[in-house]
Amino acid sequence: MLVSAGFPMSEVIQILLVEPDREKRRLAAERLAARWPVREVGEAAACLDLLRRGGSFVVLLGLRLPDMDGRDLLARLAKSHPDTPAIVVTGNDDVGVAIDAVRRGAWDYVLQRSDGGHLDDLPHVVARNLERRRLACERNRYRAELEALAIALRGTSDGVAILDPLGRISFVNRALASGLGGTESEVVGRLLEEFVCCVPGGDPALGDVVATVGERGRWSGTLRLADGDGTHGIWDVTLTPIGSPAPGDGPVAGNERRMVGIFRDVSEKYAIEQLRADFLSMITHDIKVPLTVILGYTEMLTDPEPPPDQIPRDILSRIRESGETINALVCNFLDLSRIEAGRMTLDPRPFDVREMLAQAIEHYEWTARRKEIALALDAEPLPPLVADEAQLRRVVANLLANAVKYTPNGGRVIVSAARENGHVRIAFQDTGRGIPADEIPHLFEKYRRVREAKRTEGTGLGLFIAKTIVAAHGGDIRVESTPGAGSTFTLFLPAA
Ligand code: ADP
Repeated sequence: MLVSAGFPMSEVIQILLVEPDREKRRLAAERLAARWPVREVGEAAACLDLLRRGGSFVVLLGLRLPDMDGRDLLARLAKSHPDTPAIVVTGNDDVGVAIDAVRRGAWDYVLQRSDGGHLDDLPHVVARNLERRRLACERNRYRAELEALAIALRGTSDGVAILDPLGRISFVNRALASGLGGTESEVVGRLLEEFVCCVPGGDPALGDVVATVGERGRWSGTLRLADGDGTHGIWDVTLTPIGSPAPGDGPVAGNERRMVGIFRDVSEKYAIEQLRADFLSMITHDIKVPLTVILGYTEMLTDPEPPPDQIPRDILSRIRESGETINALVCNFLDLSRIEAGRMTLDPRPFDVREMLAQAIEHYEWTARRKEIALALDAEPLPPLVADEAQLRRVVANLLANAVKYTPNGGRVIVSAARENGHVRIAFQDTGRGIPADEIPHLFEKYRRVREAKRTEGTGLGLFIAKTIVAAHGGDIRVESTPGAGSTFTLFLPAA
């Protein structure tokens, strides 16, 4: 429907004259008919009946009606048709009566003159009251829009703030207030820069940004909680100047304008980007170190005149170990991408667990010996296990590699296997540095690594992959650890 000046375009306004005196009605109708269709009734009941049937009217009524006091009719109209202008046209010039009529709902009051002079005013009075009605409709529409906006603002997960020209918060929605660490009332009235600063490095200073938004217009950038730890409270923010000078205020200088800020929480995106950057630099480092070893030693071996006293006796083992470190990294990545793509399939066949463990131990023997770690297998003969051997080798490799890696020189690693309650239990027990209790619940999360003073090579993927493979077999993996004394990782695999 087309809407013009607050009314539907198709709306036809009619005049309804409610007056028992036929001659008076005729004279009034004569003046109004040129602009509006006019309907005439002689009593209140007929007026109410007509209005009930629908349509848009301006009612002109006398006060003395045969079936009702005109003021009572006003009160009824105000209740049932509050948007219908009701104009009293009467010869009664008693001020008290006029005031009472207005109190009961009259929109206007026209005094009848015996010479008919008031008739010329009627079209103006009607037009004036139609304009009033238009403004009231518009006001109602704005009010409804404001209410809808307030609901949206309250419900949105984006933050919204209104700042005064100095950057003081005069309005904040709930989402932003809680992101800033308070309630709406705790945040309002304080400077935005008390809570947040610019990223990166707080430069340019937020105060300078705020000071220039009024003059230079819209500003977009990233803000973060001033006392945040970088894992939450990071927003992409747009500050837009608002408000034009009120009439009579004179020109408003650019730096006196208020502004509205829209805050979109990008903490998660930021954290993922940060993680990816850390991860990339980590694996670049973890591949580069063994690669340098391989390249350095192979260069020595291919030197036509090798300095014999510089070539270590175990050079080939060292090269092999470095190659295996890179291989383990690449395997973990391949496993991860297979898991994430949902492409991890199992190929269960019977195999000898003890034999598989013995091979794994043999594989890590050299590394363990170099660290003077005693590495032993303590496994009773077991019936064949039906499982995906290749996948379980990956699990065992990760757990064994960790046990050796996180155990200092001179320690001990024991791998044991036995049957227990319909399961095969395989334990990897070390005398390593152990794991703090609060880290244990998170240990099997992707990329999770225990923070340490001196970084050990690793990606935080081994345990995640091990857990995923074991779970796919319907098994479980548990950890017990005492910081400073050692850890035991235990696998439980259904024996059947
Ligand atoms: P990575 O060893 O590549 O960091 P993992 O997922 O295999 O990744 O291990 C996650 C974290 O668990 C390691 O960073 C380490 O802090 C801790 N961890 C795993 N195994 C042991 C262990 N046997 N002793 C002490 N800490 C361990």
